[in-house]
Amino acid sequence: MDMNSPITRLGGVGAKRAENYKKLGITTIGELLEHFPKSYIDFSMPVSIAEAPINDHAVIKALIIQKMPAARIRQGLVLYKIIAEDGCGDRLTLIYYNNQYVYNEIELGREYIFCGKVSGNFIRKEMNTPQFVAADAPCLQKPVYRLTEGITANMIRANIKTALENIDSSAFIDPVPNFIRQNYSLAAYEYSMRNIHFPSDAQAAALSKKRLAFDELLFLQLGMLMMKYRSRTEAGYPMTPNRDQLNKFALSLPFTLTNAQITAIKEITGDMCRGYPMNRLIQGDVGSGKTAVAAAAAYFAYVNHCQTALMAPTEILANQHFKTLNELLSPLGVRVCCLTGSIPAAKRKLLNKQIADGEFDIITGTHALISETTEFKSLGLVIMDEQHRFGVNQRAKLAEKGNNPHRLVMSATPIPRTLAMIIYGDLDISVLNELPKGRQVTETYAVTAKMRERAFGFVKKLIDEGRQAYIVCPMIEDGGNELAAAENYAARLSENDFKGYTIGLLHGKMSAAEKDDAMARFKDGTVQLLVATTVVEVGVDVPNAAVILIENAERFGLSQLHQLRGRVGRGKYKSYCILIAGTVNDDIRKRLKIMTETTDGFKISEYDLELRGAGDFFGERQHGLPETKILDALSDREVISAAQSAAKDIYDESPDLEKFPLLKCAVEKLFMSGTAEAL
Ligand code: ADP
Ligand code: MG
Repeated sequence: MDMNSPITRLGGVGAKRAENYKKLGITTIGELLEHFPKSYIDFSMPVSIAEAPINDHAVIKALIIQKMPAARIRQGLVLYKIIAEDGCGDRLTLIYYNNQYVYNEIELGREYIFCGKVSGNFIRKEMNTPQFVAADAPCLQKPVYRLTEGITANMIRANIKTALENIDSSAFIDPVPNFIRQNYSLAAYEYSMRNIHFPSDAQAAALSKKRLAFDELLFLQLGMLMMKYRSRTEAGYPMTPNRDQLNKFALSLPFTLTNAQITAIKEITGDMCRGYPMNRLIQGDVGSGKTAVAAAAAYFAYVNHCQTALMAPTEILANQHFKTLNELLSPLGVRVCCLTGSIPAAKRKLLNKQIADGEFDIITGTHALISETTEFKSLGLVIMDEQHRFGVNQRAKLAEKGNNPHRLVMSATPIPRTLAMIIYGDLDISVLNELPKGRQVTETYAVTAKMRERAFGFVKKLIDEGRQAYIVCPMIEDGGNELAAAENYAARLSENDFKGYTIGLLHGKMSAAEKDDAMARFKDGTVQLLVATTVVEVGVDVPNAAVILIENAERFGLSQLHQLRGRVGRGKYKSYCILIAGTVNDDIRKRLKIMTETTDGFKISEYDLELRGAGDFFGERQHGLPETKILDALSDREVISAAQSAAKDIYDESPDLEKFPLLKCAVEKLFMSGTAEAL
């Protein structure tokens, strides 16, 4: 049996179970063994019954002294009670419902270690459906796996166990070269593949996890470096430096560029004058003025007789960019248009023709830009706004519309440096770490629902002063009707607290035209209060808006809150952000407090990473990277920097990985694994 053998080679895995395993992406023994545990239950440090806190999880070692007869409570509900006693003579009642299998498995007179939530009182403690292992079991770490319908925890444990027992040692071929393994003190590959599932102790589990997480991060990083390397061998559009034109652009702006903007523009135009395509990311905090930098790049391309395509994730943003760029650049002779899916077919056809004929210099748009029918005359620069919404593939698709055009990516959310280096490992990075002069800090308050009335009063006061406001409406549970919830909420506001004010509504279920209309009415000031779902999250720019009130703030990640807060404080007015927490506990209090204490997006992103781990940090794989198997690989900074430095060592030795065929194969496998397509 080797890694490529089908899982049906395992005893007990028939066609039906194999079909179920497929849902987890598992068809071979290798894939089964790479289905790493998402966590472990640690039975290694039991406490006495007296020590176990009530209403909390505990691990308790105890001897079975009595098995009560099964009791039928009502139709379909059978209760099994088992009494256990620890070394101090204290007793614990174990309770299982409808689980005769477990009841039979637990033997009278034998000692076990139980793990579960303790309930009851100080006189009589209980554990409801605890997990358990025999006290003399060789391994006191029980792996917990991601499951699917038809695959139970016990099944997958048993199958992995059998696979590990039957697979030959020679099947474990270490993809990482020896010198890296030694330099970074990594555990051996076979050891790690075995111990990640059934560790001999907690340390073995940790070592194995570290090793395998290192591998994943290394492959990821190498993949990115390879992309970077390859793009440098492409012939690009070398442009000609033109300081006069750039000065002309700067002077035409209604504001003075910040130093950070000037530096970024220099880096970008410098890249664009080289023989190979630029691949650069602008990382800037919310409101740092990324659009003006993009405009400079587009203008530079225009001066060099090239077209620019700017792709945004939503129609609202595409239109907003169109308006901004048109305002900034049409006085300089630049012709700007906007191409989105909602443009009627006839008009779109005409637009497409004009774009192909070179009658427009800057084309902003949505995914419509990468549709088959869109062709450019001389696409020299592609810009992606709010890039984490796009996958690596979409980036590539837009670039394919030209002949190795320069590529500029603008990230909406500041992310920690360590992560930026992984996620954008194929890009050079410019950081806008400075806000335009005169910006006032947005004052932030975190309050409970009790304060809602007062908060509404405050919002009204600002509107009365001529400002505008956003209210992000309450989040609804999965399966609830977003549309109805948002509409009802807005209706309630207009009937009660905000009677007499003009209220607009913006949510994800509206058509693009409706959304644009709602945004336009907010932008021109017709609408005073915009009730919105998180569709306002990215990029929307209305400088007169001075307050944003966010319901259910506890359900957002810090970076998302920061992004939402970034909708205000974009103009000359003192601005406010009010976070209303629907429920409160210590964690929530701590998180929301961070928001009230800092407005530095980079700092907030560091906290976010620390508090939630990287998996959550990006929400549902929005980063466009291959899915990692070690779920929290991205939250271990030590491993991240080790993998980064190792990738660099390897890259320096052989940038195309030709010297390390096994590694190359592993990297390619990771980047092929059905990833970016869905993004
Ligand atoms: P973001 O970086 O969040 O995309 P935008 O590009 O939308 O920010 O810019 C935010 C606001 O700041 C816009 O209204 C823009 O006109 C303004 N702005 C950009 N650069 C400057 C500057 N150097 N000085 C003053 N205002 C600026
Ligand atoms: Mg923006």
